[in-house]
Amino acid sequence: MITTPAFAGQRFAVLGLARSGLTAVESLLAGGAQVTAWDSREEPRRGLEGRVELADPLAIDLTGYAGVVVSPGVPLNTHPIAAHAAAHGVPVIGDIELFAIARPHLPAHRVVGITGTNGKSTTTALVHHVLQSAALPTRMGGNIGLPVLGQTPLPPGGVYVLELSSYQIDLTHSLACDVAALLNITPDHLDRYDGFEAYAASKARLFEMQHDDQVAIFGIGEPETRAVAERELARRPAGKVHSVDGHELLQLQPKWPTLQGPHNLQNAAVAVAIAEALGLTPAQWGPALASFRGLPHRMERVAEAGGVLYINDSKATNPASAAPALGAFPPSPDKRIHWIVGGLPKGDDLDECAPYFGNVAAAYTIGEAGPRFAELLRPHMPVNRSEMMCDAIQQAMAAAHPGDVVLLSPACASFDQFRDYEARGDNFRQIVQALIADQVPAAEGAH
Ligand code: ADP
Repeated sequence: MITTPAFAGQRFAVLGLARSGLTAVESLLAGGAQVTAWDSREEPRRGLEGRVELADPLAIDLTGYAGVVVSPGVPLNTHPIAAHAAAHGVPVIGDIELFAIARPHLPAHRVVGITGTNGKSTTTALVHHVLQSAALPTRMGGNIGLPVLGQTPLPPGGVYVLELSSYQIDLTHSLACDVAALLNITPDHLDRYDGFEAYAASKARLFEMQHDDQVAIFGIGEPETRAVAERELARRPAGKVHSVDGHELLQLQPKWPTLQGPHNLQNAAVAVAIAEALGLTPAQWGPALASFRGLPHRMERVAEAGGVLYINDSKATNPASAAPALGAFPPSPDKRIHWIVGGLPKGDDLDECAPYFGNVAAAYTIGEAGPRFAELLRPHMPVNRSEMMCDAIQQAMAAAHPGDVVLLSPACASFDQFRDYEARGDNFRQIVQALIADQVPAAEGAH
């Protein structure tokens, strides 16, 4: 558990008692804070009875509180807690800000913060793996699903690698990362921001919180990322801002089995720049890129049968993240993609994927986006209106020839048919594996 005596005697309210909220409560209590906690569900409240004051922060006078801790899932643009806290002059913060407050009491360490619209988790896990391979004490946390406050503090010289979504950055005010990185910015989450510029500004704050002599790393891509890089370049001494596109790594990329495709070149380039900023050498990061196992649901190879490769890219929840998956398989007459696409749409088009339509043999549309995507894709490729995941897989499997790829890369959120993108990817993996298991006896019988 990471905590700090700086919490002692202070009052905090915690709204939302899922994983990171509960961990924040424990960290605050361990540091000697007085905690008011609330969740609309009764069960997590019950678990805290007797240790905290149970009250809805919205319903109480917040005067004198040091902060209201909310989960990044709370939409600050519409939720009344923002105005209520502001009326009492109390900051709304997240668990990453509590970590920032705890830093002065931790053994000497460095913090890496990684943000971007796409590629955050991959890059975070990759940096963690590179540091581990170099025998540096390291932990990863944040948006990757591991609350950082729940971790055992690192010994001196350790590196905390944090994946930070824009929501988490919005709830953080004093985290000065020793190395901060921005992979890319493309339209996403626009329901939570006043437009694309406000979303980009939220990501830029990660760099505004840094000191001038700390390192900032940027992917080379869209103008929005370049604009942030240029602002930071203007205010820092030479050598502290790096923009990378990975062209010098292109020749090495074939040695990295889980880091294929142009998007992963970007992730690897940013990870290497971070590793070098932390003092690692090519002899240290090189082998680690080759031994990286990748993350589930991101271009995850779930099976190969009858010469057909099955890939679960369920984490592609917007068109910008589905595009590189389509681009990862260059067109060739003997290697075509059967693309399972759809879910809860984030927008009305698939423009970012259009450059790769030529790589697709056929599309299988699922979920709410199905009818609209079918209409968009029909001029470019054969389309099956599959509706359900299991039908899409069966149809794709029946149509695929040896050398083809069956790819789930939905370009949509999952919530119309699944609990989350992980449940969607697990469903794909299970169905594929079950159907393949079914095929095997039939094939054996034929011989
Ligand atoms: P995040 O944590 O930012 O959501 P992930 O690493 O989990 O990112 O990858 C999410 C999806 O985005 C995957 O489907 C992957 O194919 C795609 N992706 C990964 N890296 C990039 C990138 N640098 N640019 C565009 N898309 C990417």
